Amino acid sequence: LAKEEGKNTYQFYSPNLQARSRERLELENHLRLAVEQDQLFLHYQAKRDLKTGAVAGVEALVRWQHPSLGVVPPNDFIPLAEETGLIVLIGRWVLKTACLQSAHWQQQGLLPVCMSVNLSPRQFYDEYLIEDIRLALQESGLAPANLELEITESMVMQNTDRAIDILRSLKALGVRLAIDDFGVGYSLLAQIKQFPVDTLKVDSSFIRDIPANFEDKAITQAIIAMGKTLSLTVIAEGVETLEQESFLREHNCDQSQGYFFSRPIAAEGLEALLRDNSTAK
Ligand code: C2E
Ligand code: MG
Ligand code: MG
Ligand code: MG
Repeated sequence: LAKEEGKNTYQFYSPNLQARSRERLELENHLRLAVEQDQLFLHYQAKRDLKTGAVAGVEALVRWQHPSLGVVPPNDFIPLAEETGLIVLIGRWVLKTACLQSAHWQQQGLLPVCMSVNLSPRQFYDEYLIEDIRLALQESGLAPANLELEITESMVMQNTDRAIDILRSLKALGVRLAIDDFGVGYSLLAQIKQFPVDTLKVDSSFIRDIPANFEDKAITQAIIAMGKTLSLTVIAEGVETLEQESFLREHNCDQSQGYFFSRPIAAEGLEALLRDNSTAK
């Protein structure tokens, strides 16, 4: 911005920017408190098995109950948490909470499937990652095979050798690994076979305009076919309509996740859905 303005670098100190950095600092302080004061909570979104119709898994998604702003979505605070390093604390809390919830549902026989947790770049490369996950599993009693970690392509493209080492250590714990938002940004397509992952999540941007958009249909079909060839579980995100789900089923996609099946909801709501789902079978 300053460059575009030429010599007018004083732009940086405009009241507007000053106000913005003050706001940012305030938000950062609030976020720090949020972790300490239990203002974070999780919503859970079910994934559907496209063959059986059963719940195939659940993704934990963090929210922040801000004292004056109301519920703040993750896209509005995860980037700041990532920049400031607070993400490591937040991520640890998410892991612990999701594992405890999942173990609880497992014990009740409601969730014989995976709980997925998103990892941020800083968390993924944190030296205590493996220990954090080992602890979350141990403290909750959750079987490692019932935990799936979602990472994005851009995270592993930054440093592929290091990333592969971390992924191998994670696999050694027995957890499942998923590539989230697959197909956007950096593409792993050529290298995907080097990465010890179990699941590909087709990014919602490819699903949004199905069935109208011919290219999106072609790309989605190609990703599903490639994933299946590599024996990966393929799941589509952002599935909002019956037409989209039918298209995915027709092309052998394994699972769908999106508002069409269920929005992300509080634990009690998901529990009701799991009960219905287990009696429906
Ligand atoms: P994501 O992991 O790709 O999660 C999917 C996002 O799409 C979620 O947004 C979900 O609510 C939304 N979504 C699901 N189905 C539909 C649909 O049918 N239509 C539309 N339009 N949207 C749908 P959310 O919960 O706001 O999370 C946004 C992103 O924030 C996540 O994207 C993930 O990257 C990040 N995030 C969420 N929770 C965590 C967390 O605990 N840790 C970290 N590091 N990141 C998180
Ligand atoms: Mg995700
Ligand atoms: Mg995603
Ligand atoms: Mg996404």
